[in-house]
Amino acid sequence: MEKYDVLIKDIIIPGKEGKWDIGISGGKITKIEKKIEAQGKEVILGNGKIAFPSFANMHTHISMTLLRGLGADLPLMDWLQKVIWPLEGEFVSPEFVRDGALLGIVESIKTGTTLFMDMYFFEEEIGQVCEEVGIRAGLGFGILDFPTKIAKNPEEYIKRARKFAEDFKNRELVFPVICPHAPYTCSPNTLRMAKELADEYGLLLHIHVAETKGEVERIKEEYGKTPVRHLESIGFLDKNVLCAHMVWTDEEEREIIKEKEVKIAHCPESNLKLASGIAPIPDYVKRGITVCIGTDGAASNDNLNMLEEMSICAKLHKGYNMDAKAIDAKTVLKLATENGFKTVGIKAGKLEEGFEADLILVNAETPEFQPLYDPIAQFVYSSGTECIDTVICKGKILMEKRQLKTVDEEEVYRKAKVWREKILSFLSSLS
Ligand SMILES: [Zn+2]
Repeated sequence: MEKYDVLIKDIIIPGKEGKWDIGISGGKITKIEKKIEAQGKEVILGNGKIAFPSFANMHTHISMTLLRGLGADLPLMDWLQKVIWPLEGEFVSPEFVRDGALLGIVESIKTGTTLFMDMYFFEEEIGQVCEEVGIRAGLGFGILDFPTKIAKNPEEYIKRARKFAEDFKNRELVFPVICPHAPYTCSPNTLRMAKELADEYGLLLHIHVAETKGEVERIKEEYGKTPVRHLESIGFLDKNVLCAHMVWTDEEEREIIKEKEVKIAHCPESNLKLASGIAPIPDYVKRGITVCIGTDGAASNDNLNMLEEMSICAKLHKGYNMDAKAIDAKTVLKLATENGFKTVGIKAGKLEEGFEADLILVNAETPEFQPLYDPIAQFVYSSGTECIDTVICKGKILMEKRQLKTVDEEEVYRKAKVWREKILSFLSSLS
C-alpha cells in the first residue's frame, strides 16, 4: 500500500464540495481525493477543519520583533531617527538578530506564514535559524550609503551581500535576495552595483519605494524625478524587482511598473500606523500588476500577522474607494498566498496536486466559522489567528494543535525578556 509522509483526512477545501483527503510526499501535495486508501507516516484528522494555503509575508525585518512597542505613535522619519536607528546602532549584533528572528518565526508560524522576505543585518543568523526551524525565507542584507556596524561604505555592503549570496545559494528553504534599502538611502551608483550583483547571481532585488510623500519630494529635489521614474532612468526596474510600499505613484508610473513587470509588496498596516498613506492597490490589481502582501517589521505594524493584514487590506480599500467591490476576500487571499510564492518562483500558494505542501489547517468549530457559509470570507473577515491549528511548510509539520514542533517557544520568550532589560536600561541612560 502507498505511504504518504503526511496524510490529512476529511478536510474542507474552499471551492470544493464535501470533505477531502490530502496526501503529502517529498514536500509536495501529491494527491487530493475524496478518500485516499493509503497509510501516512503522520496522519492528521481533519474533523471539520478547513485547509488554506499558508501565507507568504513578502516584506519584513523579522528581528525587529525585539523592538516592538517602542516609539509608538511617531511618523516614519521621527520613528527611524529618534528611536529605531539609535537602538539598532547600540544593539544589532549576530545574537540580537538571531534571538529576534526566532521570536519573529514563532509569531509567523503561529499566524500561518511559511515564507517571509526579510531585509536586515547579519542575515546568515536568520538563515541558520530558518533552516533549524524549517521555515522558508528570502533573505538579504540591507545595503546603504551610510556606515553601520555591517559596513563602512556601499562597496563593503555589496561585498557582504555577495558573500551571503555565495554562502546561501542552493539551499533548500532559504534563498539570498539583494536588498538595497531605498532610493533615499542608496545613491544611483549603489543601486547599480546592487542590480549588477542580483543579475550576476540571478536573484531578486527587494527595496522600499515611494513609501511617503516626503520621500517623493526628497527624490524629486535630488534627481528631478519621482522615485519610480528615477529608478527607471538608471535601469534598475525589472521583473526581478520587488518594491515594498508603493504608496505614492501616479498614472504614468503605474504603467512603467506594469510594463517592467515589477512586483509590489503592499504593507497596509505599517502604512497606516506610520501615517504614510494608502497605496492604490485596487488600481494595481486591475492593471494586472503582481501585488503581494507584507507586514513590514513588527516595530511598525506592530505584529507579523498576515491574517489581520488581509482583513485590513480588504476593508481599507473598500472604505477608501467607497466601493465594496474594490477588492474581495478571494483576491486578498490570493495576494497573501499565491502571488507571494509566485514572485519568488516557488510553486505553492494553491491547494492542488503537484504544488508544494505549504498549507494551514484552520479550526472551523469556532463561533467565527459557525454557521459555515463562505470559508474564505469568514477566514478573511471574521476569524482571529487562534483558529490556525496546524501549519505545514514543504511537507513538514511546524505546528499541530497550536503546539510548535520545531522550536522551544518558552526559551524564545525567556531570551526576549533578557533583551527587554538591556534595551530599557540603555534607553534610561539616554534620558
Ligand atoms: Zn520595511
